[in-house]
Amino acid sequence: MLVSAEKMLKKAKSEHYAVGQFNINNLEWIKAILLASQEMKAPVILGVSEGAAKYMCGYKTIVDMVEGMMEELNISVPVALHLDHGSYEACQKCIDAGFSSIMYDGSHEALEDNIRKTKELVEITKKKGISLEAEVGSIGGEEDGVIGRGECADPTECKQIADLGITMLAAGIGNIHGKYPENWEGLSFDTLDQIQKQTGDMPLVLHGGTGIPDEMVQKAITLGVAKINVNTECQLVFAEGTREYIEEGKDLEGKGFDPRKLLSYGTEAIKEKVIEKIKLFGSQGKA
Ligand SMILES: [Zn+2]
Repeated sequence: MLVSAEKMLKKAKSEHYAVGQFNINNLEWIKAILLASQEMKAPVILGVSEGAAKYMCGYKTIVDMVEGMMEELNISVPVALHLDHGSYEACQKCIDAGFSSIMYDGSHEALEDNIRKTKELVEITKKKGISLEAEVGSIGGEEDGVIGRGECADPTECKQIADLGITMLAAGIGNIHGKYPENWEGLSFDTLDQIQKQTGDMPLVLHGGTGIPDEMVQKAITLGVAKINVNTECQLVFAEGTREYIEEGKDLEGKGFDPRKLLSYGTEAIKEKVIEKIKLFGSQGKA
């Protein structure tokens, strides 16, 4: 059964480790992440972007696929199914479809609009026992090109959003989505420290986890980050694994063209990457 992310994140924040959010794209992704989490006895959050949901034929299909797989694979660790960077409309759809967690991303709206819509979703999700992530300010991203510095959130605005009754808070601390530019200045621990001081027990979320040096990730966890989103890194190792399979000529040997074989290297690579991240985040054995 899918669970809200609330309990797992409160525990993570108080025991100073982070729960990984791994974004899913298809059956192989879900399977690899669930198996890795079970093997590590780690709680896990499966992230779904609106684009990935469209690709996977809708939120309902995803809920059914994840639940079916958990049953079939005997997954006993806590699993939250979470909408990543959702619009207000997508949040509504996910709540109806049976997601156990959502992120409403009002970071590009005026603060008062972000506050108003987040507040509405707090009411709805509280009644249903669904966890809610909100975001303050802008986090930067690939589309920003060659900037060396990700954007930082205003700690006072963070407190305003955190006080609305949300479960977890995403705030920019110099992190960037996608691949980091060569001239990236690193995370702003000063900003993170101020945000944590303002928001107290609130589990903080670090987006754009791909390419942040391990020691920076660990330091962020000591400063209150309790959820870390990983997406691009799994995509990169999946592509690499699949390339290797084909370059070794495996698809041309016997029945190597069978998709179950063709995708096996990439799938295994995702599983290994998730295990590596769980160890880094310290969530191993915390289920
Ligand atoms: Zn993100």
